Amino acid sequence: MTTPQTPASAPHRPLSDLSPEELADFRTAKEEEYAALKARGLSLDLTRGKPSSAQLDLSNALLSLPTSTKDRAGTDVRNYGGLEGLTELREIFADLLGVETDQVVCGGNSSLTLMHQVLVDLLLHGGPGSDRPWKDEPVVKFICPVPGYDRHFSMLADFGIEMVTVDMHADGPDVDAVAALVKDDPSIKGLWIVPTYANPSGAVCSQEVAAALMSMPTAAPDFRVFWDNAYAVHHLTDIEVKSADALSLAAASGNPERPIMFASTSKITFAGSGVSVLAASAANKAWYLKHLAMASIGPDKINHLRHVEFFGSADGVREHMRKHREIIAPKFDAVDAALTGVLGGLDVAEWTQPTGGYFVNLDVLDGTASRVVALAKEAGIALTPAGASYPHGQDPRDRNIRLAPTFPALEEVETAMAGVATCVALAAAESMSS
Ligand code: PLP
Repeated sequence: MTTPQTPASAPHRPLSDLSPEELADFRTAKEEEYAALKARGLSLDLTRGKPSSAQLDLSNALLSLPTSTKDRAGTDVRNYGGLEGLTELREIFADLLGVETDQVVCGGNSSLTLMHQVLVDLLLHGGPGSDRPWKDEPVVKFICPVPGYDRHFSMLADFGIEMVTVDMHADGPDVDAVAALVKDDPSIKGLWIVPTYANPSGAVCSQEVAAALMSMPTAAPDFRVFWDNAYAVHHLTDIEVKSADALSLAAASGNPERPIMFASTSKITFAGSGVSVLAASAANKAWYLKHLAMASIGPDKINHLRHVEFFGSADGVREHMRKHREIIAPKFDAVDAALTGVLGGLDVAEWTQPTGGYFVNLDVLDGTASRVVALAKEAGIALTPAGASYPHGQDPRDRNIRLAPTFPALEEVETAMAGVATCVALAAAESMSS
């Protein structure tokens, strides 16, 4: 990997320490670097967290599977039935997610669809413990740790559900803030969390924070935690963290219905043709299947069997994820190297060095994130819109940018990130000298 060169003009001391003349010189140097960047006519994209073709290739054997038409029980997978999914696939996910096989349902290719179904069912029917369908409540609110996943927020917005933000810390959501909010307000019906290698911060929810979330008193009798464990096995180092144990913590606290866990193989096998997973208490699972039965006679069991044959076991999944890591970890290193090379010591940006997941969270100088994204766009580098990781796309400090380095080739990540770093430095210099 080539290490981006630190421009000679970078003073590598806090920009706020520079005299007005030094700051003007710094700005001029960055304007020149930016002009050179634009002149290159780049066309690079760091917007969405998609697997690269090399990662997709790791699963190409799926294209000639399954070799059988029967599951372990002898059921013909080509036919209708088996609403909760193939038992052997449910066993694999139970192992990976640290839950019981009985608690698991395997579905179609998208966990986001499962989350949508659960939300719609709660709105239309209410769930176990509900006094009435959520649609009949005067107001429904969700707690959203920020920065968070834009599609969670847009789904809530689509249903008119109000979003109350709390900060996402390195060990999970600010649990004191959450507990204070849910204690007295029965309109707060849920919380959405990506517990392991969060999108976009990479935070990992600790067992302690999870225990507090599962045991805290809530004014709503049917408070739900949407536990979106999309990145449970997506480690970037050889420390393969174990996700907090939401279902058993909730059951032990007398709130078994609180968490509903989701995951998928979207970033394990094929993003468009994987399998999804829901895990929940017996009552939640029965409730979910009862409503699912109105919409489906059974999932795509051929795809389930294909995945079972491909992985063999939960260890097969873990082994497979190490191959992903070999491909993508250098891209995350490249992001860090580029940002450190250009911005280190300037005190105008902070970024995460995630140990798993798909994103790097970049916080730039307050008020400059939109400018950075616009500068990058003009230079041919597409970034996720500033504010995307906040409800309604509104980052109150206009400082947050989500970087997604998995899809482009390594050299493209290096080039794009050196360019982004220049844009961050230039936007900071503009803001400080205006
Ligand atoms: N959940 C999180 C946190 C994600 O980041 C993503 C995709 O980026 C998804 C869910 C989408 O999952 P699926 O492809 O299973 O719908």
